[in-house]
Amino acid sequence: MHFKAFVLDLDGVVYRGRTLLPGVEEKIAKLRRRGRVLFVTNNSTKTRAEYAEKLSSLGVEVREDEIITSAYAAALYIAEHYPRAGVYVIGEAGLRKELEWRGISVRESDCGVVVVGLDRRFTYEKLAIAQNHLLRGAELLATNRDPTLVTERGPIPGAGSIVAAVERASGRRAKLVGKPSKIMGELILRHLGAEPQDALLIGDRLDTDIAMGKALGMRTALVLTGATKREEVERSRIKPDYVLDRL
Ligand SMILES: [Mg+2]
Repeated sequence: MHFKAFVLDLDGVVYRGRTLLPGVEEKIAKLRRRGRVLFVTNNSTKTRAEYAEKLSSLGVEVREDEIITSAYAAALYIAEHYPRAGVYVIGEAGLRKELEWRGISVRESDCGVVVVGLDRRFTYEKLAIAQNHLLRGAELLATNRDPTLVTERGPIPGAGSIVAAVERASGRRAKLVGKPSKIMGELILRHLGAEPQDALLIGDRLDTDIAMGKALGMRTALVLTGATKREEVERSRIKPDYVLDRL
């Protein structure tokens, strides 16, 4: 199979926390010689520029326009659909910056949108503020529903765990902007530079990465260096085309 484009997840595929996974540098260089490489992450904690910097510092040269994040997807979506709304953010600096760069007013009061991403300083107070906006009719967006995040030390709670708390408190269901949503799918296709059937999506999660690739009509490869174990692939309804020990 000759692919013309490769869509790579980051956490659990390229690195875990701050540690590059073994052999990744050479593998990405090889993929680059064969076609376009696009990095797509549901992690909203950094801006695209910061991801480019992080990857470069780990030895993988990547340009900002080769990276799509759920924070970037959320910012584009809000700028298009709620350009004048105040936005309450549960999330980290990366998400805030992506929103502010597009002229979106990030604030605490009078908010028409609540957006939830990974926030390692999440508190009861933030949950209460979000609930209040939502009970008054604000829209609820989630950067992703990943229950966990893979680090060097094992899994930590992901944005999905926080989204669940906000949904529970407000009785609302969040609109998803990250993988495997249609919003993220359209963004990937816009950046791909190839037909989806000529692309391979490589990820470590069945319900986000592999589901996204399948929804877009791409071939999919699951790597076992992240969130998913081989036994889980057998039990899942979502079947990747390939299962690989690592990238
Ligand atoms: Mg991942």
